Amino acid sequence: MATIIALSRTNYKWGLAFLMLLVLGLGWKYPYLGFMVPIVMVAGLIGAFLKGRVVCGNYCPRGSFFDTWFRPLGGLSKVPKTLTTPLFRWSLLVVLFSFMIFQLSGDIGSAEHWGTVFWRVCLITTLIALVVGVLYRPRAWCSICPMGTIQGAIGGGKHTLSISSACSTCGICEMNCPMGHDIARSRESGIVINSDCLHCGACIAACPQNALQ
Ligand code: SF4
Ligand code: SF4
Repeated sequence: MATIIALSRTNYKWGLAFLMLLVLGLGWKYPYLGFMVPIVMVAGLIGAFLKGRVVCGNYCPRGSFFDTWFRPLGGLSKVPKTLTTPLFRWSLLVVLFSFMIFQLSGDIGSAEHWGTVFWRVCLITTLIALVVGVLYRPRAWCSICPMGTIQGAIGGGKHTLSISSACSTCGICEMNCPMGHDIARSRESGIVINSDCLHCGACIAACPQNALQ
């Protein structure tokens, strides 16, 4: 039953994933498609003020691609801690945003140029995401994504999961968490706090004890 609920919750993600493939595949020819990138960025920032990384977990076309089409190809390991340190994540943010701003300044008045730059940044980061996704886990990129870092800093940890004493520490929730978060160890405190929680609900749907809310 939990599996059926989880699948129905993610049906729309196949469509969002298709949108991302469409933009990546045709953006070189139709540059305006690249504007999907800033639209998703702005949506993520608005969502961050409301509920942390909720857009990452539920409405990001690339995140949806990781959860659907790409999922069977992804690894099963945790992302190395060296890649998830604040120093690495904020450094990556500075590098990628500097690159994007430098590229945009090449023809500041041309919307077509801006679209091409957004498409290019999306292509480069998606290629990196595919590599780390195969090496570690499908959503490994989401552990280092600069927009995810910003959204986690803005609103991560505001809306927490609660975990009840019914938890049997079976670990099924952690196996189903796309980010590989530690959940069961919070059983004693009753609250799972993680600024990178995507509010996807996968852990809640998977828990056989209904211990998560
Ligand atoms: S799946 Fe449920 S019972 Fe199992 S560890 Fe997670 S919260 Fe606890
Ligand atoms: S902790 Fe639960 S809601 Fe948060 S990302 Fe993991 S599975 Fe999704």
